[in-house]
Amino acid sequence: MTKNQALNTREISKIVFKKGELVKEVEELSGENLFGCYQCGTCSAGCPFVEDMDLLPDEVIRYVVLDRREVLNSKTIWLCASCYTCAERCPRDINITKIMEALRQIILRRKIDYTDVLKIPKKERETIPQLAFVSLFRKNIG
Ligand code: SF4
Ligand code: SF4
Repeated sequence: MTKNQALNTREISKIVFKKGELVKEVEELSGENLFGCYQCGTCSAGCPFVEDMDLLPDEVIRYVVLDRREVLNSKTIWLCASCYTCAERCPRDINITKIMEALRQIILRRKIDYTDVLKIPKKERETIPQLAFVSLFRKNIG
């Protein structure tokens, strides 16, 4: 590799790995290093809710790293049940559960509640266990 090529590679690296605002915010809230992820997909392979997700957990990480803010519209963030399976299995020791929580926090801090209690039919409100409601409110209401 010539000196010029090496310089170009360094310059490209700087551009490619420049942290976007979203990843900085998520890292601050979660305490996790998203750039440690090497996209092996182990988190997604073990997640019990992938069938209903529009983005796989490893894709969520990729979107955040690439500063693609449309990830904030993904239903995956809300479907995540914080079961920690992914965090337990990640070979890079990345706590994806915390990352999902951080993404929810970013949305909830805008005072957007994801769950409208009054939209839950009365009949269901009477039969759903209280613990499920408390858990839902903790996660979905700012
Ligand atoms: S298991 Fe860990 S390293 Fe693998 S894709 Fe998921 S977050 Fe990235
Ligand atoms: S913590 Fe969330 S993303 Fe991870 S395995 Fe459980 S449901 Fe899936």
